[in-house]
Order: sequence, then structure tokens, then C-alpha cells
Amino acid sequence: MAAANDDCVCADPTNGARAVTNASAIINLDHGDPTMFESFWRRIGEKGTIVIPGWQTMSYFSDATKLCWFLEPDFAHEVRRLHGLVGNAVVEERHVIVGTGSTQLFQAALYALSPPDASEPMSVVSAVPYYSSYPSVTDYLRSGLFRWFGDAHAFKGETYIELVCSPNNPDGTIKEAVLKSKFGKTIHDLAYYWPQYTAIVGTADHDIMLFTVSKSTGHAGTRLGWALVKDRDVAKKMVKFIELNTIGVSKDSQLRAAKILKVVSDGYELPNPDGMDKLFDFGRRLMAARWERLHEAVKASGFFSLPEFSSGFCTFFKERTATYPAFAWLKCEKEEIRDCEGFLKEHNILTRSGKHFGVASKFVRVSMLDRDENFDLFVKRISSLGSSHLSQKV
Ligand code: PMP
Repeated sequence: MAAANDDCVCADPTNGARAVTNASAIINLDHGDPTMFESFWRRIGEKGTIVIPGWQTMSYFSDATKLCWFLEPDFAHEVRRLHGLVGNAVVEERHVIVGTGSTQLFQAALYALSPPDASEPMSVVSAVPYYSSYPSVTDYLRSGLFRWFGDAHAFKGETYIELVCSPNNPDGTIKEAVLKSKFGKTIHDLAYYWPQYTAIVGTADHDIMLFTVSKSTGHAGTRLGWALVKDRDVAKKMVKFIELNTIGVSKDSQLRAAKILKVVSDGYELPNPDGMDKLFDFGRRLMAARWERLHEAVKASGFFSLPEFSSGFCTFFKERTATYPAFAWLKCEKEEIRDCEGFLKEHNILTRSGKHFGVASKFVRVSMLDRDENFDLFVKRISSLGSSHLSQKV
């Protein structure tokens, strides 16, 4: 928790409840907390509100006759509708499975894809730099079914589960599976395959695709994700995992998420006489402005470099669009600074070191999705690093 003092409104780094406003305050951009979207949903107001009477959503079951018996039909409907609108993933002949965040679905998929009777745990791999939660979430229970191996490029073998995150957390690149064995399995984590971050260049069509409201609409606190799963038996095992793990998924969250997704789709599909902003347009505009400012700040500082991204024709926006990842993957270019996270921490900027993503500490991941005030302060502080570093030396 940031200490309170007279002239700052210090952010609580654990909940980001308030924005940081003073020059020496700690800016926490370690997590990918998507609070940037708050201002959009504030403007949406009542239209995004739901009320749940005390007698509703009491049963464990949503539809006991369905494969995913805890899936709320309204939520499933809005998931399919949104993918249809955006064109980012195939929904026909796919099972929709809801999870407590895509974090739970990732574990459900590992469970479903690992044979129960193998002599060795299944190796779980992902190409570096990989999302920092993959190793820890895979191994925290020391399962006998699966075990974190590490970088997919270093894996030699025929049986594995490869995690493909695209666009990738942390570096924003578009990724494909590295391993090609016919005995291997893949899980595609498409949390960031939405038009505010990248051009939608095709309808993703993979065996298991994971999505989450955390990154699509910004509702990380609702803790809701969904999987689109081709194979019925895999889908059944994923449902079994969720049954054993949490006996289903909050219906209240599903109803809320259904409403949120509905508002997003309605924004594009219904008449809009009041000229209300639309989510992906809002997101793209803000991300474009932020990335431009970050590039300027990085240039002014003289300390860092950023990856370069190409543009693509976005079938959703129907124009060529640039790439605006949810994270900045900063590389510290100064020879004498080996620990970029430590260096930025000295300047009260909290980031996540490359070492958590399987690469060198010269890299850090910085969230681009925080509130405006924190982002403003971040770019200002980055721009002035060059001069403050010099003045410390002389
Ligand atoms: N996958 C990726 C690539 C992510 O970045 C995140 C969130 N940081 C998640 C999954 C987890 O999403 P959720 O909040 O739905 O558990």
C-alpha cells in the first residue's frame, strides 16, 4: 500500500482505487488491471446496469440438460453474438464453457487434455516470452497430470500441451503454435484478440480458444471468461473440472457479463440516435493516443526501446489498423542497467521483470490499461528520466 502524505492522492496498488497524482508517488503498472475502460462504462450509465432480485440465481443449475449445466443461456447467447459481430473466432459447432476468469478455464483445459493414466505428467510449454501466470498456475498444486516445462522452442518430444497466447502477453506479437506433433495439444489464449488491440485479420478456428471479459470489456472484477471448444469429450472434461473446482460459475457474474456484452453489441447493431461511444472505437482511440505518447516519452528518455508492429486490414473496422498492445514490452538499452524493473522501481514505477516471462531482466512489462491519470504520470516520468538520471550523476 502506498503511504499517504499531504500532497498526494496515493493509489492503493492492490485495488487501484484512486489515481496517483503527485510526482514522487508510486505508479503501479505491474498488473494488467484494465481500469482504463471505467470512463467508458461510466458514460454508458444505466444501460449497463443490472438488478438481481433476492430470489433469482439461487439454484446451482442453469440448464441441467446441457453439457455445460452451469452456463446461463443469456450469457452464451451474447458470447456467440459478440463473436459473430467482431468476427474474431468461430462459434459454429463449438461448445461454450464459462469459467471463473479464463484463469480457471486454462486449468480446466490442462485437466481435460492430460491423460489420467499416463506414467509421467504432461509437459506444458509456451514460447518465450510467455505470460507469467502460465508456469505458476500450472505448477502451484504440483499436479501429477501436468507439469510446467518452459519454452516451447526448447521442447523435444511428441506429447505436450502448448499454450499459444495471441496477441501475446507480454510483448503483443501475433503468435502461432511452435510445436507441430500430431500427438501434441494446443490451447489458444485469445484474451487480447479484440479490435482495440489488434487488427482482426481472420476468424480464429482452433480446438480450444480462451477469452475473458477482463480484457475485452475491462470487467476483470466480474471474474468471467469463456472457452470455445470443438471436441465434445474435451468440453465435458473441462466442465467436470469446473464442477469439482467450484461447482459451477457465479450466475450473478454471468448475468452481469451478459448485459455488458449485450451493450457492446447493441452499440454496433442498433440505431444510435444519441451518438453514444462504442466500446471498440473508444478502446482503439485511447490506445492509439497512449501508444503515441509512450513512443515520444521513450524517445525523449533515451533509455529504452519498444517492439515494432505492423498494421493489418481489420475486417471489423474495415480499414487498415495499427497494433496497440495492452502491455508495453520495454527493453532497457543502457549497458549499465541490467535490472530494468529495479531501475524503474527506483523511480517509483512498478513493472514486471522479463525474468517472469522466461527472458532477461533487461525487459519489463508495463500495463497500458490503467486510468488516464496514472498513465499520464507514467509517460511524464519516463520522458524526464534522461534529465533526472543525468542530474543524479553530476
Ligand atoms: N490470459 C492472459 C493472456 C491474460 O493476460 C490474463 C489476464 N492478465 C488472463 C489470461 C487471465 O484472465 P482472467 O482475468 O479472465 O482470469
